This record gives sequence, C-alpha cells and structure tokens, in this order.
Amino acid sequence: MNGTVYKSTGSWYTVKSSEGEFYECRIKGKFRTQGIKSTNPVAVGDHVKFDLETIGDETIGVISEIGERKNYIVRRSVKLSKQTHIIASNLDQVFLLVTLNNPPTFTSFIDRFLVTAEAYDIPVVLLFNKMDSYSEEEKLEVQWLMDLYSKIGYKSIAIEAKQGINVDQVKELMLGATSMFAGHSGVGKSTLVNALEKGLELKTAEISEQHMQGQHTTTFAEMYDLSFDARIIDTPGIKGFGIVDMDKYEIGDYFPEFFELKSECKFNNCLHLDEPKCAVKEALENDEVAASRYRSYVQMVTGDEDNPYRER
Ligand code: GDP
Ligand code: ZN
Repeated sequence: MNGTVYKSTGSWYTVKSSEGEFYECRIKGKFRTQGIKSTNPVAVGDHVKFDLETIGDETIGVISEIGERKNYIVRRSVKLSKQTHIIASNLDQVFLLVTLNNPPTFTSFIDRFLVTAEAYDIPVVLLFNKMDSYSEEEKLEVQWLMDLYSKIGYKSIAIEAKQGINVDQVKELMLGATSMFAGHSGVGKSTLVNALEKGLELKTAEISEQHMQGQHTTTFAEMYDLSFDARIIDTPGIKGFGIVDMDKYEIGDYFPEFFELKSECKFNNCLHLDEPKCAVKEALENDEVAASRYRSYVQMVTGDEDNPYRER
C-alpha cells in the first residue's frame, strides 16, 4: 500500500494510506536512507510503501520503502554534534509570519530564513501579521518590506490573524498543499492556525515553556488534515530551520536578486564584498539591491556581524 507519514514517535509511525485510512506502522530491516544520514530513517511527510501484517488479533503496517523526498528540513542537535534529525519532508510551502514589533522580526532573520529555505528548496510566503496594531508610519514600513520581498519573488500578504483579515488569501494558497508555519514566538502562528481551523492547537507554545523549565523532551512533528483540503505540519519549538552548512561561495546563489547580476561581476568567483567591478555592489549603489538584503548577505558570508570584512 502507499501512504504518507502523519506522525512519528521514534519507533511507531502513523501512516495515512492513499485510501484515507490510518495505520500504525513500524519499520523493519535496513533502510536505504535518502541521501543524508539522520537519526530517524522515516520522517513526517514521507511517502512510503507499507504492507499489513497480522499478529494475533492485531494488524500493523510494516514500512518497506520511502519515496524520494522533494525537500526536507532538519534539526541538528547541538549536544550530539553532527546528529541530524529530519523534522519533516515534502513541504509545498512555509508561511513565515513577520511582525514589525511585539515581537520585532528583523530583516536579518527573514533573510537568513529565506536563504535556508532556498537551500532546502522550499517556497516561502511572507505573512505580515498584526496590521491592525501599526501606526501609519509603521504601515508604510511594512508596505516597503512587502514591495521589497515581492519584487525578488516572495509572495507577501498583509494579514490580521486575530480579526481573520486576509486569512482567506492564506487559505487559497494552502488548497491541496502541505504547509508549515514559522516565525518568532508571539507573531501569531497559533492565532492564525485557529482562524484557519477552529479548535486546532499548535504545540509550539507548550513546548517552549517546557524548554524554559529545563526539561529535556523529545518532540516530534505531526501532520494534520484541515477541513478544506489542506495539510499542515506542526513542528514544536521550531521558529526557523536548522542551520545548513553552507560554503560562503554558495550563499549568493540563494539571494534570487543576485542571480542575474553575478555573471556581470568581473571575477567569476566574486563574493560581492570589495572586489572591483562587482555588479551586485553596483546594483546596491543604484538601489536595485536593497541595503538590508546586502547587509544580511555580508553577515552570512563573513559570519561575523560586528566585523563584516573579518575574513578579507
Ligand atoms: P505564536 O507564539 O506565534 O503562536 O503567537 P500567538 O498566536 O500566541 O499570538 C501572540 C499574541 O499576538 C496573542 O496575544 C494574539 O492575540 C496576538 N495576535 C495575533 N494575531 C494578531 C493580530 O492580527 N493583531 C493583533 N493586534 N494581535 C494579534
Ligand atoms: Zn560581485
């Protein structure tokens, strides 16, 4: 049978078959891992093949194969360095909720998130939330950010999750798709999910509280079917993606607005820092590349916010 993994607890997987039935499944034998070494062979979102086995009066599924993942996100354990846990796979999009204040979301955070998503091959939609709480001046600032990000290819929507304003636009993008919500704690993820589907509670809040109490809890992602042909993956305690190890020469590839400029730089290995005849820097001076984006880029390439040219 074919199915999709909706939940994992480490040794058990809840799989929804293509006929819409849920089965508790285990894995058996050795698995060909999908290109990366991870602590979990099967992740939420994986498309799997499984067979039913009856032992006594119990029927369980046995997963025999994992379909190729179109993308995935990981969490890397700091304590057990190099241990990679796949949180979820086969995402159609991630909605990044952004607020100007309460809490502030800095462009450096947005840009780092976008770069990681580009590296993971996951489309991002930016949701500027709490529009009702901004002054006229702040509204202009949000509009400016929305223009900036739309221009470089990221859908941007202004919403009021609490009042349900523009939530239908989010809903429309979610139709037939698997989505995830991300953003700092307090930006309105739970409120939005509740506006999309009454009664659906995210795990995010409860988990971060546990972290503050210093308890070690292993947490797992879970997929939910919504009432309007949409799926969401809830990933406790995740405000962004795991950091991917990136070569500094690779980072520019994940800034879409640099893409066409690159070939016009004098040096083909140009890092766009202070090389001569750099098309990215020229575009920056002509306001064709946003200063905030360039700043984020420099931070990521040099890995040092205080001394951006440290490595040169
Ligand atoms: P989460 O941590 O991202 O899940 O954030 P919550 O959904 O818990 O929201 C944090 C706070 O922001 C709550 O007090 C919400 O009522 C509030 N909030 C959410 N959406 C809006 C909105 O559109 N406007 C305003 N003014 N407050 C909002
Ligand atoms: Zn350059």
